[in-house]
Amino acid sequence: MTTLFISDLHLDPERPGITRLFGEFIDGEARGADALYILGDLFEAWVGDDDPSDTGAFVADRLRALADAGVPVFFMHGNRDFLLGADYARRAGMTLLVDPAVVDLHGRRALLMHGDTLCTDDLAYQQFRAQTRDPAWRAQFLAQPLDARLAFAHQARAASQARQGELRDAGTMETITDVAPEAVDAAFRTHGVDLMIHGHTHRPAVHALAVDGRACTRVVLGDWYEQGSVLRVEAGRLELQALGTP
Ligand code: MN
Repeated sequence: MTTLFISDLHLDPERPGITRLFGEFIDGEARGADALYILGDLFEAWVGDDDPSDTGAFVADRLRALADAGVPVFFMHGNRDFLLGADYARRAGMTLLVDPAVVDLHGRRALLMHGDTLCTDDLAYQQFRAQTRDPAWRAQFLAQPLDARLAFAHQARAASQARQGELRDAGTMETITDVAPEAVDAAFRTHGVDLMIHGHTHRPAVHALAVDGRACTRVVLGDWYEQGSVLRVEAGRLELQALGTP
């Protein structure tokens, strides 16, 4: 049986082709999987489970149908959809996973993360993350009217784009927005695993590395901007592959 991993779809009403591709994947290949893991940034933005978008409704519908067909669906928050709550997860038939999570994959322990916590060189982002993951911040934000929350998301997106432009100009984009090797090593050590799967950086690859003399594998899932990306895991086999075109 194959276990499937995806992340960084960044689904958005403005890119209906990708949402369609996601629907085809869920109704097609995913039906034959033993589980589906979504490791964050399923949505480009999420300001609360009262999100009125057709995209949100469509995704919940397809995922619910998959779960009802007997394929467990697990979701871990990304930095874009960290406000996705228990209500929406229930509607979509997804089980929420706390980041980081260690799971048993065909007899091998694997560490799952979104990946943003590994980007420790991005101090401004880590500060933003600490602030917005605070339960008090979250409660206060979600208590605002939908319009105000949507305006905030719009603003945060513009600020993030401006910051990426600055990093690019300064020539630090490549290093700042990638994982820090020390953080990767520390995660392997802390959890005592030899397999890690994460997304976030949009740099799909299967990395072989040694941590304290132990052979380890770090899989980075790809984003769904120009195409899809999926990791298939069977006993003793990992396959990271691009998926169709929208
Ligand atoms: Mn991300």
